[in-house]
Amino acid sequence: MNWESNVRKVVPYVPGEQPKAKDIIKLNTNENPYPPAPGVEALLKNYSTALLRKYPDPTCSSLVEAISEKYNVKPSQVFVGVGSDDVLAMAFLTFFNSGKKILFPDITYSFYDVWASLFKIPYEQIPLDDEFMIDPDDYAIPNGGVVIANPNAPTGVFEGLDGIRKILDANRDVVCIVDEAYVDFGAESALSLLDEYDNLLIIQTFSKSRSMAGLRIGFAIGSETMIKYLSDVKYSFNSYTMNSLTLELGAEAVRDDAYFKETCAKIVKTREQLKVKLKELGFEFPDSKTNFIFAKHATVHAEYIFTELKKRNIFVRYWNKPRINEYLRISVGTDEECDKLVTNLKEIIAGRENND
Ligand SMILES: *Cc1c(COP(=O)(O)O)cnc(C)c1O
Repeated sequence: MNWESNVRKVVPYVPGEQPKAKDIIKLNTNENPYPPAPGVEALLKNYSTALLRKYPDPTCSSLVEAISEKYNVKPSQVFVGVGSDDVLAMAFLTFFNSGKKILFPDITYSFYDVWASLFKIPYEQIPLDDEFMIDPDDYAIPNGGVVIANPNAPTGVFEGLDGIRKILDANRDVVCIVDEAYVDFGAESALSLLDEYDNLLIIQTFSKSRSMAGLRIGFAIGSETMIKYLSDVKYSFNSYTMNSLTLELGAEAVRDDAYFKETCAKIVKTREQLKVKLKELGFEFPDSKTNFIFAKHATVHAEYIFTELKKRNIFVRYWNKPRINEYLRISVGTDEECDKLVTNLKEIIAGRENND
């Protein structure tokens, strides 16, 4: 009768809005403004629907091999999933099983505490400093694992590999996940540390730098042993996480390295220009190495700007949460989208300041 007392109750993650309207400027979920690699479209146009009759390859070998070639690791060091969210969830389930609290920053990807709660993993959030920087020494305490988004979200701040190394050194006996969702926009990957640290698991996504958020592709790279444990859990949960079409399209996207580099460079260039314009408008922000800028205005409150932008069909992200409720997270769009954003910000700020 009282079945509700036995329900697994969770406070779910809240993804950014996906508005249905057409004429909007969407800078709220860090999507890539450019289309996927041209080969993806060609493959899709020629795809034989007869192939959908069969189950997909449970080992996901076409995609795994493309990723292993690109990143110069063995296929047995690669694990793929339905977006990095799926990969991260599997990694939490697999590696954070000690009963001890896992550690991650207080301001970071807001899915980490949701997975920890879902899987009943105790956790402690370590405060970033006032500049939103990590102090690696804070992670030298007893724990059951560490998760670092690098560059961090939603701050955009990149922690150098010396800092990552310190965290890995202090935590040889637990798995340290480095979530590199934004690493392709000018930061440095911890991939170079893999040979030295068997406690390191690197997770990346196709959603941002490869323009494929809608397809859902993420992957992990780690030691063969680690990937074996991760795969065992996956096969115990759902053998066919990834569909056959996505596997082919994803492999095609990875193979076009030139297009990938070109679009990432375009976004970095637009981001650097946007930084200058936002500064001129009176915004301040930690230096971003991602495809978004986490900005606070000197005089006008973030929530007001967020609401006003929305009225003008420009969507950015705002969280009414302690420590970050003065900030807007603005994804880097095309040059044209960023120009329209800046024009509208100028009007909103001028209007507000005149009323004061
Ligand atoms: C976007 C994002 C992800 C999830 O990406 P998907 O691959 O789309 O699931 C994971 N971690 C961080 C920090 C992100 O910003």
